[in-house]
Formats: sequence, structure tokens, C-alpha cells
Amino acid sequence: MAVNDFQITEHFNLKEFQCKCCEQVKIGHDLVFVIEDLRKKIGLPITVVSGYRCPQYNTIIEGAKDSYHIQGRACDVYSTADLNTICKAANELGLTGIGKYPDENFVHIDNRDQECYWVKHKNKPYKYMSFEQLLKSK
Ligand SMILES: [Zn+2]
Repeated sequence: MAVNDFQITEHFNLKEFQCKCCEQVKIGHDLVFVIEDLRKKIGLPITVVSGYRCPQYNTIIEGAKDSYHIQGRACDVYSTADLNTICKAANELGLTGIGKYPDENFVHIDNRDQECYWVKHKNKPYKYMSFEQLLKSK
């Protein structure tokens, strides 16, 4: 039985958002539709690198303690578009949490209540900054 295996928007299947360890999924309606809009805006396929994470899996991969992934309000996305193109499109669509991961080539997006932008290099601390600085940061 293919649980979670069905289209939820034109380009996304619910399965793509499920937890990598247990296949559970909890994902916000708004977030899914904004990712569909993001895909249309950049005009290129988007791969969901990480959608929902159960608390246990989030601990295993050393995700942030209060990660929005656990709440079904965050997604890490990969596309062949460059990271700044994704960041800009996400910002224009009103996404408030945007993190750039240049070493791993993905962008974290979420719809938290207050704006927050950061760059995270592998094995380095989070660097928080304005959205303008985010675009300039390598
Ligand atoms: Zn899990």
C-alpha cells in the first residue's frame, strides 16, 4: 500500500515531504502551495531535500533543536537554479525563514512568524544577517 503516494499540487507528491526515517508526514497547507509557486517562479524542478522530520530523526541528523521541520513548517529545497535565484523567489513569495547552505547546495525555507535569514557552511556556526547580506554572502 502506497501511503502518502499521491499528488498534492501540480508538481509535488505528498511522499516527497515525508520523514526519511519513518515515512510519517506533517506538512502545512500554506507551505506546500508556496513551494509549488516557488517551482513555477523559478521555472525549474525542485527537489525536496528534507521536508517533515520526526523529533527522533531531527536529533539523529543534528538539526536545530526547535527546527521548523518538526512542525511541518519548513523544507530544504534543491534546484539547478542558483541559490540566490531560489532565495529571491522565496523572499518575493513572502517566506520569512530563508537559509542558504552553499556547501550542500540547498536552501532552507519556512514560514515562521518573524523574518530570519542565515548562511550555514558545513561544520561552521549559523551566520544570521539581513536579506540583502544573504544575497551577497557566498
Ligand atoms: Zn521519522
